[in-house]
Order: sequence, then structure tokens, then C-alpha cells
Amino acid sequence: MRVNLLDFDAEGLTAWFAQQGEKPFRARQVLRWIHQRGEGDFAAMTDVAKLLREKLVAAAAVSPPPTLSDRLSDDGTRKFLFDVGNGNAVETVFIPEDDRGTLCVSSQAGCALECAFCSTGRQGFNRNLTTAEIIGQLWQANRALGVEPGGERIISNVVLMGMGEPLANFDNLIPALRLMLDDNAYGLSRRRVTVSTSGIVPAMDRLAEACPVALAVSLHAPTDGLRDKLVPINRKYPLAELMAACQRYLVHAPRDFITFEYVMLDGVNDSDADARALLHLVRDVPCKFNLIPFNPFPDSGFRRSPADRVRRFASILADHGIVTTTRKTRGDDIDAACGQLAGKVKDKSRRVIGVSPGSLRASIGLELR
Ligand code: SAH
Ligand code: SF4
Repeated sequence: MRVNLLDFDAEGLTAWFAQQGEKPFRARQVLRWIHQRGEGDFAAMTDVAKLLREKLVAAAAVSPPPTLSDRLSDDGTRKFLFDVGNGNAVETVFIPEDDRGTLCVSSQAGCALECAFCSTGRQGFNRNLTTAEIIGQLWQANRALGVEPGGERIISNVVLMGMGEPLANFDNLIPALRLMLDDNAYGLSRRRVTVSTSGIVPAMDRLAEACPVALAVSLHAPTDGLRDKLVPINRKYPLAELMAACQRYLVHAPRDFITFEYVMLDGVNDSDADARALLHLVRDVPCKFNLIPFNPFPDSGFRRSPADRVRRFASILADHGIVTTTRKTRGDDIDAACGQLAGKVKDKSRRVIGVSPGSLRASIGLELR
């Protein structure tokens, strides 16, 4: 089997080159070809010594996950579906905005964490993506989207907010993040790369050490009672521990705040009292809030909070000095909005899937108020 060079960050590639008897500067040269120029064909790497090119053709490959589909939404959002083998596929979404272009990248085929309102979680878990499959999404999307007329890349920001829990795939995530930041690869600033986590506390500490980037934490509830039901990982890492981990993360973070994501579920977590409880919860954590109107999917069992409820909730937070934004729903005509990513996942976990919303709600003990 040929070695997939997309699996290596700079350090890994240098080590592999050393094993082949090649100097570090050669590794750097090839890294630039692959990631800066998006070249996958060694023969085209014209300033690389011919002998080395031949060696690479024999021993290595640049193998991103193949594109299964590429759809454009009316609002410019573009959704890619990538084949990750064995009948599994993951989704990657490009979101153009006036001042930036954000790529939303997946980290796992499915997700084991079973958040009640998430389509990915509903499908079960198959496996972690490899580093090549994570960075390969950016590599492919960059090739598809190209550069601005001035030569700037269209993709200026990356968020790990696609399918899967990135911090549950830590070892494969870190080299991919390092490539995003590497000046010889994508050269993104730490502030423009965001990891979103449902709150895996020990891995938040490890991320702070290994590769501190911007952090978003999926909060979704002000109390342990409710969060245990909506985000079941809360039973393992409850809110007090999560808040303490956020404070520790800020010591290393490239930004001086944590972004809390909060999905607005009608009658579940969207009352004035919930907003006030949040203010109390986050009192010691410098933060911003990003409210996400719930994006429905078949049989979800939840409803989106009405727009005036979202506004009122946002104003309670804002009146107490917390910068609060409400996420615009983008790409919902192509099922590319947050939490709608389904890809195609063969569940390997032993849980029951395909339950009806009623029974699901009963099983998590949730009543609409
Ligand atoms: N696993 C990570 C990152 C992927 S999900 C995490 O949970 O943070 C990115 C965001 O979309 C998370 O905040 C998640 O809770 C939210 N989300 C999931 N399902 C959603 C839905 N149906 N509507 C709106 N947001 C949703
Ligand atoms: Fe997994 Fe995030 Fe979905 Fe929860 S919200 S099931 S952690 S992808």
C-alpha cells in the first residue's frame, strides 16, 4: 500500500522523508505543492528533483476522499458529500459571507454522542475520520472553489462543526489542525480555525496544550437536569466541570472568549428563565453566545423557537453585556444547515436507531413545555 501523504503534518512528513533518506527541505517543498498549490500529482511538481518524484510515485500518493456530490444552494452555500469507504459518506459545507468564506468540516462518520436534536447523532457512529479524510475535505474544497481574483484563497476560515465530535477523534484531528495553521500549507490564523465541542473536558485541556485554536462549546441548556437529556455527554462532564474547563482553555486560547453555541428549541430551553439561568452559569467565563435556531430534520421531535422568542432570549443575554448573535440559517434548501448533515453512515454502535420521535422523547424523558 502506498503511503497517503495527506495523513502527515509537517513534522510527520519530515520524519517520513527522513526514512526515505530525504532532507527536511524536500519535505517542505512537497508539503507546499500538496497543500498550498493543491497538487496531487507528483509528476507535476516540477522543481522537485526527478529522482525524488519517481520515488514518490512508487511509494506514496495524495488520496483525498472522493467527491460523491457537490450541490449549490440558492444562497450560495455549497455542500460536498465525500466518500470515506465502506458505504460511509461525510458532508462538508462552504458558507460564503461578505468578509470571509467558511468551510464547515466533518471529523467522524456519524457521532456516538447522541445529542437529542442532532441528525448526525441520530444515525449512530461508524468510525473516526483519518487525518487525510479531515484535511482532504479542505484540500478538495479549495480545489473546487479556487482563489479570489487577487489570488487570495476563497476559504478563509475553517470550523469543525460538521458531522462528528472533533475532540472524540483527537489524535487524527491535531495533525489536520496543524496543517490548517502551517504557513507551508494553509496558513490560517488560530483565530480563524474553530473547534466546536459538546464538552469533552479532558480533551479540551489537551487541545489547549497541543494546538490552541478558537473554541466553541455546545451548551444548549442552563442546568444539568436539562443538559443531561439534550447533550448526554453532560452526565460524564457536568456543567460545573465544563465551565472550569472553559476558564482553563482561555489561558491558552487565541481569542479571549469562548463561543457558546445554543440551539433554540421551542418550549424546551428557550424561556426567559433559561436565559437568566445561563447568565448565572457563565458568570465567570468571558464568552459570546451564538444562538442557533433549530434546524428540523425528519422525525426530529423538536420545533424551532419562534423568531420573537429568539430575539427576546438574545436581548436578555445582551442586556447583561454578553455579545449575542443569532446564526442565520444557510443552505437549508439543500439540507446543509447546522445539525442537518446526515451523510451516509452505517451504524456500528449497538444502539437502536430509527426510533419514532415520540418514543425517543419518552426515552430521554423530555416533555415539551
Ligand atoms: N460535535 C460538535 C460539532 C458538530 S455540531 C458539537 O456538538 O459541538 C455543530 C453545532 O450544531 C453544535 O452546536 C450542535 O449542537 C449544533 N446542532 C446539532 N443539531 C442541530 C440542529 N438540528 N439544529 C441546529 N443546530 C444543531
Ligand atoms: Fe455529535 Fe455534535 Fe451531533 Fe452531539 S451535536 S450528536 S456531539 S455531532
